[in-house]
Formats: sequence, C-alpha cells, structure tokens
Amino acid sequence: MVMESISYENLLDQLHDGVYFLDGERRITYWNKGAERITGYDRSEVVGVACAPDFLGHLDGKGGPVFGEDCPLELSMKDGLVRERELYFRHKNGQSVPVITRISPILNSRGESIGALEVFSDNTSKVYARQRIEELEELALICPLTGVGNRRYAQVTLQNAFEELRRYGWGFGLLFIDIDRFKDINDTYGHPVGDEVLRMTACALRASLRSFDFVGRWGGEEFLVILPNTTDDMLARIAERCRTLIQESSFQSEGREIRVTVSIGAVIADPDETADDCVERADKLMYQSKANGRNRVTLEL
Ligand code: GH3
Ligand code: MG
Ligand code: MG
Repeated sequence: MVMESISYENLLDQLHDGVYFLDGERRITYWNKGAERITGYDRSEVVGVACAPDFLGHLDGKGGPVFGEDCPLELSMKDGLVRERELYFRHKNGQSVPVITRISPILNSRGESIGALEVFSDNTSKVYARQRIEELEELALICPLTGVGNRRYAQVTLQNAFEELRRYGWGFGLLFIDIDRFKDINDTYGHPVGDEVLRMTACALRASLRSFDFVGRWGGEEFLVILPNTTDDMLARIAERCRTLIQESSFQSEGREIRVTVSIGAVIADPDETADDCVERADKLMYQSKANGRNRVTLEL
C-alpha cells in the first residue's frame, strides 16, 4: 500500500502538467511538482488549505475571479461532469498564468461526488500567439484566408530584415514559393477546394519553419518566407523541408485526395541590393524550378 502510494505520487511528479486533488470542502489534498512549477506555490504551502477566490482561485480572461456558480470545480463536483476551460491562475509572484484546465469529479463507490481532480497545463505560448494574431488582424497584416502574414506584413518584415542586415550584419534567407499547377486545382475541383489548398500550404509552411521565421502570402498562390540568421546550408535544408512537407500534406474532398507540390527559389540577402531586387532574384530562381520540372528548390550558388 505504501509502495503503491509512493510510486503513484512519483508518477504524477513526472508529469509536465500541474495536478491537484480537492476534497468535498475544496481543501487541497494533493499538489504535484508540475503545479508547484506553474503556480510558484510549494506543496507544503497549499496542502490542507481550502482553495478560495483570492487564493489559488481561477481567474477569467479579464482578471476577475471565477467562483460560485461559475467555478468549474464547483460545477463538476455538483453535476459529476468533466470540464475543460481556458483560465488563469494567479502565480505566487502576482502574475496571471494562462492555463488550460481539465476538471474531473472524484466519485465514491455510490457514484457520489466527494471531491475533484484538476489537471492544468501552462497555456502561455498559445495565449500569446492568439493575442498577437488578434493585434495583427486589427492592423490588417494577416491574410484572413490562410492566417499567415499578408503582402504588406511581408514587405514590412523584409524591410526590417534589410535594416538589420545593413546595420548589424545579421544575414537572412528568403524563399519564394509558388504552388504548382494551382489553376488546375481550381478548374478541376472548384475554387473552395483551391482555397483549402492555400490553407493547407500555409499550415505546412508554418510547421516547417522555426518560431522566429516569417511566412506571408505574397499573392494568389505565392508565399514569401524570411529566415533570419540563416547560412547557405540551413537555407537549403529549410527550403527542402518546406517542399517535402507540402508534398506530403493532403486532405479529402468528396472522397478524393487533394495534394499539391511547390516550386521554390531560395536566396541569401545581399546588403547591397534593394528588397525588391532580392524578391526578384528569388522569384527568378522559383521560375527556374518550374522550368526544370516543378516540385523542386533552386538555390543561388
Ligand atoms: P504554375 O505551376 O506555372 O505556377 O501554374 P499555376 O496554375 O499555379 O499558375 P497560374 O499563375 O496560371 O495560376 C494561379 C491561379 O491561382 C490563378 C488564380 O485563379 C488562382 N488564385 C489566385 N488567388 C486565389 C485564391 O485566393 N483562391 C483560389 N482558389 N484561387 C486563387
Ligand atoms: Mg503564381
Ligand atoms: Mg503556380
């Protein structure tokens, strides 16, 4: 029995997520290491303490406490249902930490609720990303169809990259990407399927890139990727990863499998050229990829 409880706690401490148990009086009876890490509160500070609106309570998006009728813990204990919500915890240092929480009631052998279990994970990066997207949408910098940057955003990002290149010598790579025979997709399957292909391509590009890389929709079925801090070797590797991941992406439409390929032109920016010249060089190399049979990367050597 002792052995069992030790290994079980050890197991929960291995989780990246925060886990805690509450009894019927909302007193915390267990608090794992993940919960310590995310909230800043030590197990010894919280076990035996009742969770209250002003201590370890959840906060909504506006920073107000979530309690009473609205508290998912109370609700789950009452109706016995599992709940999932995006909320905030107040960290010991006072900051609000965004979390995704999953709450399950703990039932006794008669099926009566005698407490609750909550598993929560740090939601910071997702919340930041969403806030950033909302801000950018407000500034009209995001392509509403694909969710990546629009041409204006790509131009601004490219200008900034050139300024950094000239001022600090921070080199960057540029990819010009064009979907192969995209007109055929529209003609064969219809415009909405073409739109879905654009979304799929943007999604595959984002998945191929590093967090600090930029992807924008340059025009109809053309994308521009800006790769800060990139050497020749990395440029070739990232461009190839983009090409492969798009080739391997597909979706179903009315029982048919839709997939596309892309042609890519890849360059390393030169401090003595203009942004327009740089895009034009990459565009020319992209056309070379088309001329050589499509579904390939052409790099400037
Ligand atoms: P290539 O391999 O030489 O690039 O051939 P392609 O058919 O991809 O090239 P083309 O430039 O002839 O066709 C691009 C097509 O993209 C034509 C246009 O109708 C379509 N298109 C542009 N914007 C959109 C869009 O937002 N949605 C959809 N569905 N189609 C679009
Ligand atoms: Mg085109
Ligand atoms: Mg095309």
